[in-house]
Amino acid sequence: MVEPVVKLKDIAYTYPDGTKVTVGGLDISIMRGERIAILGANGAGKTTLLLHILGLLSPTDGEITVLGKNPYKDFKDIRKDIGVVFQNVDEQIIGPTVYDDIGFTPFNDGMAKDRVDMLIKDIAQKMHIDGLLDKIVHYLSGGEKKKVALAAALVGNPEILILDEPFNGLDPRSKKELIGYIDELRKERYMTIITATHDIDLVASIADTVYILSEGNVVLKGDPGAVFSNREEIERANLEPPILTKLFRGISDEGYDLGIPKDVDEAKDIIINALRE
Ligand code: ADP
Repeated sequence: MVEPVVKLKDIAYTYPDGTKVTVGGLDISIMRGERIAILGANGAGKTTLLLHILGLLSPTDGEITVLGKNPYKDFKDIRKDIGVVFQNVDEQIIGPTVYDDIGFTPFNDGMAKDRVDMLIKDIAQKMHIDGLLDKIVHYLSGGEKKKVALAAALVGNPEILILDEPFNGLDPRSKKELIGYIDELRKERYMTIITATHDIDLVASIADTVYILSEGNVVLKGDPGAVFSNREEIERANLEPPILTKLFRGISDEGYDLGIPKDVDEAKDIIINALRE
């Protein structure tokens, strides 16, 4: 039997100030190469959940395994297999220049200089930031900083990539680039990608499976189309269904079932086809 790369069952964590966060209900079971979105309103517990997967918090209750290990106890063993881009990228900038920042972990791990140099240039070229390598990270735009953080997360070719609210503060072009890049990663490297977001309109473009988190429980899980059809539960979780779901469901209620498109391009094709018929 193929084991999930991340397995999580009814965890609870109490912050030092006494705030108790639970992630219960449906189990979270993530397979290799799967793209997951964890969706929930602010304060639903998404970041707390990611911190557990990263091994930065240990649950006071419940079970979690990452790559078959306890991520907190075996932190050193699994850390190199996980890349992460935190919500506030300023907090994870380490190197003064983009080059230093992307190369920090492999340099720190004692990898040969030539090899790190090759890896840095390779990832920078793929992400179209090779022109920024000599720049001071601190002075870059928000979108550029996010790309640098992503390049630094990917340089060691991790098995799992974790993205916490990756679209916050990005302009439309940077959002589109990031979505395209996430798609490429899946195709090229068969990477497991876990994204926490409240940006419901983008979820279908970045995830095969969505988990809805509400008041300490995973209340829904499944492919985006099926999950978003459950309007009552989505609204109970203090979220709004994606605008395309609302639109195409409204059309269906009028007797024209055209399905639910996952993005604007698909919606356009559906509408054009319907008009031609
Ligand atoms: P989300 O990422 O979905 O916005 P979080 O995991 O950040 O949710 O927060 C879940 C709950 O835990 C919230 O009530 C939040 O206020 C609380 N919380 C998060 N971090 C801390 C902390 N360091 N100390 C105390 N409470 C915290």
